[in-house]
Order: sequence, then structure tokens, then C-alpha cells
Amino acid sequence: MRMNRKMCQVIDDDGSLAPRVSYNKKLHRFLVRCGCCEQSVEIYALSIHNNPADDSWIEINGVLTSWREWKRVIEDIIEMEKSNES
Ligand SMILES: [Zn+2]
Repeated sequence: MRMNRKMCQVIDDDGSLAPRVSYNKKLHRFLVRCGCCEQSVEIYALSIHNNPADDSWIEINGVLTSWREWKRVIEDIIEMEKSNES
């Protein structure tokens, strides 16, 4: 069991803590709420059809970039965490 430093107190024994996700179709907004408390983050998904190389953009907490960049950032964070554990 690990402690999430900022948002949560407890993570399940299997290492996961399922977030609660709701979608507002009118706003194209995903609201992702923490599985253990009332912390949340708003995520907006935008499609920019005149840019076929990167047609899906995602805004998280006011930061807008392509899904590819978000994926890279999250992968980098996971890699850093893994290397810190050893
Ligand atoms: Zn929480």
C-alpha cells in the first residue's frame, strides 16, 4: 500500500484507486474525481480537425496540449517514480 502524497490518503492493496469520471457532453468536459475524497480535476477534450497529425487536444487544469504530449508527460512521471522506488 502506498500513500499518495497530495490528494489521497489510501490506495487499494492492488495499487489502484479508481477515479470517478463524469462527462458533460455540452461542455465536452470530463470531471475526474478522486476515489477517496472530493478532490477533482476538470479535463476538456477538444478536436481540431484541420490538424490531422494531432487532432485531439486535451486541457487539464488549464494546460492545453495534444494527447500525445500528455501521454509523454505521464509516461515520464511513471518512469521517474519507478526509478525512485529502487
Ligand atoms: Zn482522494
